[in-house]
Amino acid sequence: MYEDLTDKMLIDFLNLGRVNAPYEPAIREAIERVLRSGYYILGEETAAFEREFASYCGVKHCVGVANGLDALHLILRAYGIGPGHEVIVPANTFIATWLAVSLVGARIVPVEPDELSWNIAPERIEEAITPRTRAIMPVHLYGAPADMDAIREIAQRHHLRVIEDAAQAHGARYRGLRAGSLGDAAGFSFYPGKNLGALGDGGAITTSDDDLAEHLRKLRNYGSSIKYQHDVAGVNSRLDEMQSAVLRVKLQHLDADNARRAAVADSYREALADTPVELIRIPDKAQSIWHLFVVRTPRRDALRDYLTSRGIGTQIHYPVPCHRQGAFAHQAWPELPVTERLQSQILSLPMSPYLSADDVAYVAAQVKAFFA
Ligand SMILES: *Cc1c(COP(=O)(O)O)cnc(C)c1O
Repeated sequence: MYEDLTDKMLIDFLNLGRVNAPYEPAIREAIERVLRSGYYILGEETAAFEREFASYCGVKHCVGVANGLDALHLILRAYGIGPGHEVIVPANTFIATWLAVSLVGARIVPVEPDELSWNIAPERIEEAITPRTRAIMPVHLYGAPADMDAIREIAQRHHLRVIEDAAQAHGARYRGLRAGSLGDAAGFSFYPGKNLGALGDGGAITTSDDDLAEHLRKLRNYGSSIKYQHDVAGVNSRLDEMQSAVLRVKLQHLDADNARRAAVADSYREALADTPVELIRIPDKAQSIWHLFVVRTPRRDALRDYLTSRGIGTQIHYPVPCHRQGAFAHQAWPELPVTERLQSQILSLPMSPYLSADDVAYVAAQVKAFFA
C-alpha cells in the first residue's frame, strides 16, 4: 500500500487536514451551532445549504442526500428508469457512475473516451443508442466538464435525459454555466476528498425540474414529505445538519480554493510542456476545477516508482476499469481498448489548494529528471 509511505513523503498526494486547516475556526463554530441547536436531521442548516448550493450552481433546486452514489441512483429512480432500460455512461470513470445504473436495474452501456480529453467521446454515443436508451450520464471527469453541447444535442434528438455526474466538478463551468446546471439533473458528492468536501459522507442533487425535486425530497426521506405519511417506497438518504453546516462554511471558499488549484494546474502545464508526458485537453467552452491533475505516459509505472522514491505521492484514477472489476467482469462488454490503454498510462500528480509554487516546481523537476 502506498499509503504506508505517507509519512516519508515530502509532498503528499493529498492531505485533507491541510485542506481544511484554514477553515478550522469557522468549521468549529458551525459544528457547535448544530450541537447546541438540538436539531440534527433535515433542519435549517440543510435547508440553508440547499438554497445556497442551488444558487451557486444556478438552478432552482438542490436536494441534499447521503452521498454521491445515492444522488445519481435516486435521479434515475425518480425518472422511472429501471429494468428494461439502458443508460449510456463513460467507460472511463469511477465505479459509482456504473453502480448508480445497476442499482436501479437498468443496463449499463459504456462508451469509450476521446483520446485527447480522456472523457466520453460524443461521436461514439450515437452508435450506442437503442430504443431502450433512456438517459446519458456524462461525468465531468477530473473536474473538466464533458463536451456538453454535443451531448445535449444528441440527447435532444433522441429524447433522452442528460444526468450529470458532477461528483468531481463543484464550480466547474461550461459556456459560463456551472456544472450541475448543464443537464436535466446532476449528482454531486461531498466525499472529503472532493473539491467541496464534508467531514464525512454527503451528496446532493441539483435540478431546475420542480416535479423531479419534489419527488426526490420524498424519495430521500422514506417517501415522505409530511411526517408519518409515506406516499412512495423511499429510502433513507439524507444530508445531515452537521455536514450541511460544514459545507456552508466551505462553499464560501470554494471559488478561491478552485482558483488556487487552477494556478497549480497552470504551473504544472507550463513546466511539463516540454516533457514527454501527455496532458489532458480541456474541451472548448469548458473551465476545469482541477479535481485531479492527471498526466499520461506509457512509462507510467516507472514514473510512479521514481516519484515515490523522490518523496512525491501519486495515485491512479482509476487503476482497473469498471468492466474489469469483480463487480462487473462476469458480464459481457464490448471491446474497450481506448479505456484500457488510458487506464494503463495515467497518473495523478499531487493537486490541492495548499500546494506552493515550490512544491509544484519540485514535482515538475522530478518528472523532468525521470525523462532526462
Ligand atoms: C466520488 C464520485 C462518485 C460517488 O460519490 P460518493 O459520495 O463517494 O458516493 C460518483 N461519481 C464520481 C465520478 C466520483 O468521483
